[in-house]
Amino acid sequence: MTSCLFCRIIAGEIPAAKVFEDADLLAFNDINPQAPMHVLIVPKRHLATLNDLTAADDALAGAMVRCAAAIARDRGCADSGFRTVFNCNAGAGQTVFHIHLHALGGRVLGWPPG
Ligand code: 5GP
Ligand code: ZN
Repeated sequence: MTSCLFCRIIAGEIPAAKVFEDADLLAFNDINPQAPMHVLIVPKRHLATLNDLTAADDALAGAMVRCAAAIARDRGCADSGFRTVFNCNAGAGQTVFHIHLHALGGRVLGWPPG
């Protein structure tokens, strides 16, 4: 059994509030939301960090970004504004080492981030 939390969610071993799913991606609500919309978009294939992406993953990365935009539109955040974030490695706050794109919206988001 894998020890990767998001692989276990993808496998259905741990429940999550699913927002979107296709052959390559799963999107689900963050368990500790930092905004009214806080969705995580993850590839079904395990990749630990952004540093593991290769040119062969360009379509996958693009699909993750477009998935975030589609969810933001569904949630009514597309025009008011939303934010997408990939944290890469511990110094940037990555705590789950399976690539995930945060999609946050539904409130005013400050800049710069912490
Ligand atoms: P990171 O800090 O790695 O960029 O983001 C990891 C995110 O995963 C955090 O926002 C955290 O709240 C979320 N998270 C951690 N454990 C779970 C879980 O079991 N289920 C869900 N849905 N989200 C989780
Ligand atoms: Zn994984």
